[in-house]
Order: sequence, then C-alpha cells, then structure tokens
Amino acid sequence: MKQQAAATGDYGIARLAGRDPARWIYPTPVGLYVEPAGLYIDPMRVAERAIVTHGHSDHARGGHRHVLATPETLAVMGVRKVKPKSGQALASGESVTVGGVRISLHPAGHVLGSAQVRLEWQGEVVVVSGDYKRAADPTCAPFELVPCHTFVTEATFGLPVYRHPPAEAEIGRLLASLTLFPERAHLVGAYSLGKAQRVIRLLRLAGHERPIWVHQALWEMCALYQSVGIDLGELRLLADARPAELAGEVLLAPPNASAEGWLAALPEPVRAVASGWVRVRKRATQQGAELALVISDHADWDELRQTIVETGCERLWVTHGEEAALIHFARQRGIEARALSLVGYSDGEDEKAEAGEGDA
Ligand SMILES: [Zn+2]
Ligand SMILES: [Zn+2]
Repeated sequence: MKQQAAATGDYGIARLAGRDPARWIYPTPVGLYVEPAGLYIDPMRVAERAIVTHGHSDHARGGHRHVLATPETLAVMGVRKVKPKSGQALASGESVTVGGVRISLHPAGHVLGSAQVRLEWQGEVVVVSGDYKRAADPTCAPFELVPCHTFVTEATFGLPVYRHPPAEAEIGRLLASLTLFPERAHLVGAYSLGKAQRVIRLLRLAGHERPIWVHQALWEMCALYQSVGIDLGELRLLADARPAELAGEVLLAPPNASAEGWLAALPEPVRAVASGWVRVRKRATQQGAELALVISDHADWDELRQTIVETGCERLWVTHGEEAALIHFARQRGIEARALSLVGYSDGEDEKAEAGEGDA
C-alpha cells in the first residue's frame, strides 16, 4: 500500500482550503452517501450498493445487494448471517475506482477486518474512520494513519473523562483473581465480535494456557478468528461442561447470557465484564459482576485527538458519540469541524443494543 501511495502521490496531499466535500459526500436517512460512486458507507437501511467498514451489527446490516469490504469483514458478515447478495473483497491498501471515486480500505485497529475508507475524488481526499482505536490489539491489524483533507471520525469516547487503561493490566486483574480464587469459575461477559477474541488472546499472551470455555454464541466467531491465524489456544464449548470441571477456569459468554439458567449451576462464579465504558464499573456492580475489566475497542479521548491532528485534516466531521468536545478541540486548532448527524449507530452489537451501550 505504501508503494501504491508513493506511486500515486497520495501522501503529502496538497491543501484544498475552501472546497467542501459536502457537495459529493453527505448524510442521508440511509447513511453517508458518496454521490459520484452511488454508494453508501455502513448504511443503516437496505441499500443497493454499500461499503461496510466492519462487522458489528450497527455497521454491517443485512440485505444489501452489493457490498464492498475487506475479505475478513465479508467473512464476519457470513458468520453473522448478514451476507450481501454480492460481496466484493477489497484487501487493505488496494483500490478500486467507482464513478470516478478512488476507493481504498485501510486498517482501523477496531476488530478483525475493520477498515477506514479512503475516498478520493477530483483531488479531494476524505477518510471515513468507521470505528477505530490506536491501542495495540493482537487480534487485528493495527490502525493505519491516512492523511486526508476531510476526516470523518467516530466519537464514542469523545470526552476527557475517557482514558482507557492498558488492556494487559486489566487482563492481569482477571488473572490475579484466578490466583486468589482457584476454586471459582470466572465468567467474563464480552461481545461476540472482537472483544471476546481479544480477551482470549490477551490471556494467552499473559501465559494462561488452560482451556477456555466459550458460550455457543461466541463459538463460530472464535473459529473464524482461529481460521485466519489468530491463535486462541484450546477452546471448549461451555454447553459441554460439567459444572465441577469449571472450577478455577475462565468462561466467556455474551453479556446478555447472564440471565441463562446454566449460570446457577456454576461453582460460586466470579462474574466479570469486559467493556470500554468507565461507568460499566457501576453497572457491573448493579448486575452482580465483581470484576469490571475496562477493555475498549474504541479510541479514547487522547487517541481521538492525536488521530485528528495526525491526519493533517483541514475539515473534521464527527459522528456517533460525544461530538461537542472534539469539535471544540478541532476548532481551537483551526480545523473546520462539525457534527455529522447520522442516526442508527448504537456502537454496539445486538446484545448491547438492549443494554443501551455498545461494543465499546
Ligand atoms: Zn464497531
Ligand atoms: Zn460504531
């Protein structure tokens, strides 16, 4: 991709003061529309042609006719049963030109296959971040910085109160609890795409070699991750376990599985939850979880600001999340900034939608 970029002069882009891309890319009730290409990015309603940034359910909806996405995201959509009628895989850094718009996808560091969308039309470059993070994640390609004139950023954690601790330290807290309570099953609530696999991989990297028991709802997605070479170690299906063999083991289930009957049979479980929301600590306690692991797949306040600055953008559009503080920050730096009203993103997966909070 670097090669391609150098050959075509993508980097070190010329300044374009005064040209507003809103004349060719703009929000509609269906989603962000790229007019010359005739396609929507992460449309929340069924669309003829779409680019899908990643597989979370609020970004990758079912029913689209034609979807352009990374091969991994198309595979994730298959697991989620939201496969488009026709899927066109575009690997990171490759580009296609549709209606004069040059389109390429670049790693967003959010979950397996997640991509930012780079759009270039008549010399103007717009990058749509999708969901992203800058922190290291051993289960997906790292975020790639893509210079642009206009940066469309998510803002899930766009407030100074949001500063995520290192995920490794949070996993350390889980392992410490296992050491402290070797007779208790440790049940971790984690979303099925991204969070669950990241928790497992981090446990492996921290030296936890025991089999990990996973809920049926996570099984297929974990298998997909394994199939693309992300080593999750030995996984076992929770439904196959006898309660006694779960003592001292790590179990993973989607957060909404907490109401299921099998939980009652667990040997004095330690309930944990993995999520980026700082306030999850409070909610976790309300739900009876003892251990709130702050592990986020979204950029925190520092990463959002860093990224906005590093893209070198002249214009910032802020979507789904906490827009106001980021807009203020950008304007202070001379960047023209506004909120882009896109409804329909819950920042979560199916499970989270009901909790009102997302895949964070
Ligand atoms: Zn997401
Ligand atoms: Zn999102």
